[in-house]
Amino acid sequence: MQTIEKLCAKRNIRLTPQRKTVIQLMLNADKAMSAYDLLDQLKEIEPQAKPPTIYRALDFLIEQGFVHKVESINCYIICPHFDDPSHISILFICDKCQSIIEEHSPIIEAQLQSLAQKNMFIIQHSVLEIHGTCQHCANQIVGQ
Ligand SMILES: [Zn+2]
Ligand SMILES: [Zn+2]
Repeated sequence: MQTIEKLCAKRNIRLTPQRKTVIQLMLNADKAMSAYDLLDQLKEIEPQAKPPTIYRALDFLIEQGFVHKVESINCYIICPHFDDPSHISILFICDKCQSIIEEHSPIIEAQLQSLAQKNMFIIQHSVLEIHGTCQHCANQIVGQ
């Protein structure tokens, strides 16, 4: 939270109490959340909150690189690498428990950049979503 606050100050952007609350909720959850999960929790704090409230806050947080949208499961996660907003994020998504691990790879990043250059393509943002089974769930399958 402190890191985010510092970055916002540095970028000269306003972290409204609402945006702050959404970040706090996501940090507390420590897992992917849908917009409706977030709305439900936000309503406990701000009963007048409506879907556009959440979507506006999320759009802002995505734009700032604090949050990634996970398209394939229509959820949002907080990014642990705020200070590098242009990073390519590799998400390992467990199909059993929906846990998500975020990884970065300078090698893959360089490779993607060179493929993009070859096609004169400018990458704006990229999230690689990779589905499978996490260690915890894989152990459970073996244990059965
Ligand atoms: Zn990230
Ligand atoms: Zn799992």
